[in-house]
Amino acid sequence: MSRSRLEKLRQKLAEKEIDAILISQPENRHYLSGFTGSAGYLLISPQKAVLATDFRYVEQAAVQAPDFEIARINSYTADWISGLIAGLNLKKLGFEAESVTFAFYRWLSDNLKQSQLKLVPVESLVESLRAVKEPAELDLITKAVGITDRALEHIEGVMRPGMTEIEAAWEIEKFMREQGSQTLPFEIIVAAGPNGALPHHQPSARVINSGEPVVVDIGAKCGGYCSDMTRTFCPGAQDDKFRKVYDTVLGAQLAALSIIKEGMTGEQADSLARTVIEEAGYGQNFGHGLGHGVGLAVHELPRLGAKSTDVLSAGMVFTVEPGIYLTGWGGVRIEDVAAIENGKARVISKAKKT
Ligand code: ZN
Ligand code: ZN
Repeated sequence: MSRSRLEKLRQKLAEKEIDAILISQPENRHYLSGFTGSAGYLLISPQKAVLATDFRYVEQAAVQAPDFEIARINSYTADWISGLIAGLNLKKLGFEAESVTFAFYRWLSDNLKQSQLKLVPVESLVESLRAVKEPAELDLITKAVGITDRALEHIEGVMRPGMTEIEAAWEIEKFMREQGSQTLPFEIIVAAGPNGALPHHQPSARVINSGEPVVVDIGAKCGGYCSDMTRTFCPGAQDDKFRKVYDTVLGAQLAALSIIKEGMTGEQADSLARTVIEEAGYGQNFGHGLGHGVGLAVHELPRLGAKSTDVLSAGMVFTVEPGIYLTGWGGVRIEDVAAIENGKARVISKAKKT
């Protein structure tokens, strides 16, 4: 598994004329090595693949990352990096510009000053590999999606007017953990009534009232892989406004899901849903992108949004989540997970939407 990923990365390094790369981003470290510990660095050159970690993880690293040479580092001594690169004869060392802190960069350049090595910032290198899923990755995402499908069905059955957002969120969390979610990749969103106008509202003690929209956005995690789904419920009687907003969002989502195809950019995909929402007069109320890749991280490549040049290709897995948010009233968002297969989008999630 990790060997073919390493080969793909090395190919990219060669294209960029970089001699080696230091990987510090946690999901990238996991993806390339198989190591799931919370601390460590990978140093990857054409000949070498080293996983440097501290005492707590040395044993685990040897088991999880058989393709890597394990180097034990002492996080309190600052010079392990120069020891690691000594003898590799590197001229250009890449580092992950999007995740390296300024303090780490300063530490790195201080420690490598003697070596005449040039530090080269790289962006989205491993992330672009991660965007295309292998079958085993798709299986884990599908498993996580299955848990969120069942959790949404469960909460729809037990949600009653009078319940608070926090009570509903706990009910969902308990259910997902019992169903095998190893952890929650993000805090559950239950947003009732006007709170639903805030796309990332945190559950509060607010009581859910009859006839108001309730946005429920949840994710599960299996084998490190995430799911991310949203349904909007309306306990009690639905009024005309709810129906109009809901049908617009659903229509936008179904349009996008049926037309999205391989080779489209993220911007083109976004516009499929955006046009439907604009035509219904709610263009100003859909303030976020259509979706995002899901995998080891809950938000990853590709981006489906108004300015995204990311090209959708076979094996990519992403969300499609249009929404309409009306201040003082609430919101409606419907989010599914889809994969590009046989040239078009196959929807993985199954929780009902009508
Ligand atoms: Zn979501
Ligand atoms: Zn999402």
